[in-house]
Amino acid sequence: MEQLYRQTIMDHYKQPRNYGKLADDDAIVLPYKNPTCGDVMILYMLLQDDCIQDIKFEGSGCSISMASCSMMTELVKRKSVREVSQLLEQFTSMIKEGAEPDEDVLEDAVSLSGVHKLRGRHNCALMGWQALQKSLEQHPVTLENHN
Ligand code: ZN
Repeated sequence: MEQLYRQTIMDHYKQPRNYGKLADDDAIVLPYKNPTCGDVMILYMLLQDDCIQDIKFEGSGCSISMASCSMMTELVKRKSVREVSQLLEQFTSMIKEGAEPDEDVLEDAVSLSGVHKLRGRHNCALMGWQALQKSLEQHPVTLENHN
């Protein structure tokens, strides 16, 4: 099982999905970094009608951080902000609290569940997701239908 997980992580690291710039004037551009490991990234996101229409990233860093960004973009692309916040919550509690992940929900990202035991690497796995959360918070217009 562990071996299979490592292969999934290396696959995303070597061939990151949704890698590159988003050439759209309306795209949100958010640089983000994880100083504890030296991982850096730029998140590009296009929000439309409460939905992530498109998302891409660029960056460099350790295999955990880059694989996690790749898996994150795959998971949240074309999902609603509400669905995305549930994914964010589930991924974060898998890393921070060691919560049992649902493979049907987190898909390839369950391969990072072992990072829970590596406390010093939590921020590597979480970087892409924190960037995502931050860029959603900066655009509260997408959350206005809560009231
Ligand atoms: Zn790292």
